[in-house]
Amino acid sequence: MYEFKYHRPETLQQAVDLLVANEDAMLIAGGHTLVPVMKQRLASPAHLIDLSHIEGLDSIEMRDGLLAIGATAKHADVAGSPIVCEAIPALAELAGMIGDPAVRHKGTIGGSLANNDPTADYPAACLALDATIVTNKRRLESDGYFQGMFSTALEADEIITQVMFPLPKKAAYQKFRNQASRYALVGVFVAGLASDVRVAVTGAGADGVFRLTTFEEALKKSFTSKSLEGLSVLSDGLNSDLHGSAEHRAHLIGVLARRAVDSANGKT
Ligand SMILES: Cc1cc2nc3c(=O)[nH]c(=O)nc-3n(C[C@H](O)[C@H](O)[C@H](O)COP(=O)(O)OP(=O)(O)OC[C@H]3O[C@@H](n4cnc5c(N)ncnc54)[C@H](O)[C@@H]3O)c2cc1C
Repeated sequence: MYEFKYHRPETLQQAVDLLVANEDAMLIAGGHTLVPVMKQRLASPAHLIDLSHIEGLDSIEMRDGLLAIGATAKHADVAGSPIVCEAIPALAELAGMIGDPAVRHKGTIGGSLANNDPTADYPAACLALDATIVTNKRRLESDGYFQGMFSTALEADEIITQVMFPLPKKAAYQKFRNQASRYALVGVFVAGLASDVRVAVTGAGADGVFRLTTFEEALKKSFTSKSLEGLSVLSDGLNSDLHGSAEHRAHLIGVLARRAVDSANGKT
């Protein structure tokens, strides 16, 4: 590992000040993406600003009818939180499907959303649940937040502080794992919200997570897996690699969406 300066701020303001003051600085939370990337020399920040010791940044609570999850909440915290399990059980289940125990006890929701890996799980939940990503500067709607593979609306001096989720009436996530990495070969999150139905797909899109509006329209008419029967997904623009062809991914999207709707309806 090459030389860099490690900072351990105790408040969000200290972290922001360090980020602004130091050129070539990067935030680190769980380090489960950034450290491997640094080892491969794909990133070589001169300053690392560790968010994991900022008190309260990992809180999980209900606020104004929304589920508010702090940026440094680890996947295991979300999976095991009674608050999440009661408010949005599908989100707790999703967190419990991420990686392996080591990943779940270090990786954070903020790190995952900032990284926006095209095969990560949380982006699908945020987009389907119409979550708001809160930073030190502003509130970002999930529809405009994800801007393509490893790309988000975050600016260089912006730190995710929490993610606010409206509570769905029904929701479920289904994931077909890549057996080697455990990331999603395809993952589909369906959510019946108070006045909307949203379906988000991860793992399959060449530009990362996306909404499947044809499925959403069908589910708005009838929130049943039967209403998705006969709907096909075009393979154009889907990933094709050694793990699966675009056609295979297109097929999986349909299968997983129907399973997710059944699961959301309590038919598992
Ligand atoms: C073996 C393995 C298997 C995995 N499997 C899965 C899987 O199945 N599904 C899945 O979704 N993920 C998976 N992951 C990813 C993992 O879950 C983490 O979510 C991910 O590594 C990023 O979170 P982190 O806290 O480790 O972020 P870090 O690695 O610390 O940071 C990642 C990026 O986000 C930035 N960042 C971190 N926190 C913030 C913040 N609050 N505000 C702004 N920027 C920030 C950092 O600067 C960096 O650019 C896996 C990782 C590994 C190593």
